[in-house]
Amino acid sequence: MPKTESLTTLSGVGPKLAEKLGKLGLHRVQDLLFHLPLRYEDRTRLRAIGELLPGEPAQVEGRVDHSAIVRGRRSMLVVSISDGTGRLTLRFFHFSARQKQQFATGAMVRCFGEARGGFQGLEMIHPTYSLLREGSEPPLADRLTPVYPSTEGVGQATWIRLTDQALDRLRTGDVELEELLPAAQLDALAMMRLEDALDAIHRPTPDADVAALMERRHPAQQRLAVEELLAHHLGMRLLNRRKRAHRAPRLDRPGELEQRFLDALPFKPTGAQDRVCAEINADLAGQHPMLRLVHGDVGSGKTVVAALAALRAIVNGYQVAVMAPTELLAEQHLRVFDDWLRPLGIEPAWLSGKVTGKARQAALEAIAGGAPLVVGTHALMQEGVEYERLGLVIVDEQHRFGVHQRMALMRKGEDRDLRPHQLIMTATPIPRTLAMTAYAGMEVSVIDELPPGRTPVTTAVVSNDRRGEVVRRVAAACAEGRQAYWVCTLIEESDAVQAQAAEAVADELRDALEGLGVGLVHGRMKAAEKQAVMLAFKAGDLDLLVATTVIEVGVDVPNASLMIIENAERLGLSQLHQLRGRVGRGAKQSSCVLLYEPPLGDLARQRLDIMRESTDGFRIAEKDLELRGPGDVLGTRQTGMLQFRVADLGRDAGLLARVPGMADELLANHPDSVTALVRRWVGDAADFAGV
Ligand code: ADP
Ligand code: MG
Repeated sequence: MPKTESLTTLSGVGPKLAEKLGKLGLHRVQDLLFHLPLRYEDRTRLRAIGELLPGEPAQVEGRVDHSAIVRGRRSMLVVSISDGTGRLTLRFFHFSARQKQQFATGAMVRCFGEARGGFQGLEMIHPTYSLLREGSEPPLADRLTPVYPSTEGVGQATWIRLTDQALDRLRTGDVELEELLPAAQLDALAMMRLEDALDAIHRPTPDADVAALMERRHPAQQRLAVEELLAHHLGMRLLNRRKRAHRAPRLDRPGELEQRFLDALPFKPTGAQDRVCAEINADLAGQHPMLRLVHGDVGSGKTVVAALAALRAIVNGYQVAVMAPTELLAEQHLRVFDDWLRPLGIEPAWLSGKVTGKARQAALEAIAGGAPLVVGTHALMQEGVEYERLGLVIVDEQHRFGVHQRMALMRKGEDRDLRPHQLIMTATPIPRTLAMTAYAGMEVSVIDELPPGRTPVTTAVVSNDRRGEVVRRVAAACAEGRQAYWVCTLIEESDAVQAQAAEAVADELRDALEGLGVGLVHGRMKAAEKQAVMLAFKAGDLDLLVATTVIEVGVDVPNASLMIIENAERLGLSQLHQLRGRVGRGAKQSSCVLLYEPPLGDLARQRLDIMRESTDGFRIAEKDLELRGPGDVLGTRQTGMLQFRVADLGRDAGLLARVPGMADELLANHPDSVTALVRRWVGDAADFAGV
């Protein structure tokens, strides 16, 4: 790397910061230019406290009336400010002695945050703030303030400082930034030049179209979106070329084990399950590696389909690896596969990051020795795990099935002449209209039928004003021996703040629900802690589980039949659907309460109504797309459905139509740009796959 490109040539970047940035995939100054704001904050105006609306980010100024450290299960700094039009509470879960002093009575503060309904009127949790010295207040911002995606220990001020320098170098020509799209294509689409687009996105001018920027419909963002879509599309095409060049083991012999397995099941597969199995078997019998996505709503019975595919491979003398994204889900699979297959003489081996020492050694030996079935986490695909004859990889609940993941998976068996088949299973309901593009290059099977005898979950949409009633409802349900989830969904960049907000809710509920067992899981807990709490909940030792959205995927506790979701209006419908899928798994009538912060806008009301009216993930996804409005940008990003930085398949469907043609032209006439584009947008994964 030329010297001027290294991030350490920027002022303020030492080895420590460089390492943190490296973890985000940022190594060169130009990488910073593609580290794009997640959203923008409008700090150009002040709002009167009396006019604050819950859920809306705003900037206010006020005088501190009082501040106190409130000691509960955990201390919290609580500051009350007012500006003559109203009163606002600021809450800090982590704070220093200095902060406590800063908020002396009478001090003036300017803060920016999102107001929410609290126990004593509106409050802001961890607003950003500055103390004002009377007479020398700093001017308000004259343009939108970008907010960058970040990592622990890198504050927004740092991102601004870094991107400022990168943009400076861009202007002075000290950083190399290649325009990879042919001028003719840009002209045909009337698109901005890359350099101008980046500048406009990082530092919108005071006269920029704020609404467009917030919704990512600004021409500058569209310019990047088209490039990103194109890069992903090209990545898929390159992979497919390589896939066709590879051979896979032919797994074409059916065995009597499959019949014995089916005979032992307490139910008959649905027609949809049968059809999907046939599609998979046809692929497995082919000479090129299968790459098939099985798409089935929560509870549609994907596991049986996976087990049948696994048996087909095993019968043909090959090994199968079954991977889940979390330890918890992987263990759940281990239990199910063990129940189902041990009677057939197949004992699953187990490997996860937590398996260490002798146990790990034993697992590695078993795998190298040809163990027919291995269940685990991504540890299964890591360096040092050698298979004897890997024939099929099954990836469950893979939310991220973009080109990144596909490239990473391809590394396994790189040096073999036979590549394993891949089966990816997901419940993320992406609208059918988009599926073909989203999954470009993958075959898609849909399980579009639920097993018979399910009672659909009833859903209620309830204002947070009636929180007390909801808590009583939880108490009543638990008194009847039912179990419940309470999902906290603070939208916040920081895991730490999310976790602490969940802790505060758990405390609140523990106080309100005396005598009941209340557990808590959040993303900051160690895997072992999470696991212990989940197991206690599964075993019925806990009545109520307070959780952040970490419980979203796959967890199966049939006795849980009530779910409360806070701030439901701010989540994407797909995510709500996933969450709600955690209940309604047993015979009991299940219900879901979607709590919202009033007042609820029209669009938000319509979206929540869809959730009330439908339990069909596909229909919900289609409707969501139809209604998708500005407020949903965060929601869809949160589902992590596809890893796009700028593009959005729903919003940018119009651009998407242009992509295949642009790709043809690049592949034919600009092969160098193709590789550079994929590298720019798909990044490190491209290295692994040798693109
Ligand atoms: P998901 O598609 O969400 O992974 P699972 O595979 O966990 O769904 O199946 C959900 C539940 O439905 C499991 O308890 C499973 O045993 C059961 N199940 C699967 N297929 C059928 C079927 N054809 N008839 C009845 N129950 C089924
Ligand atoms: Mg599942």
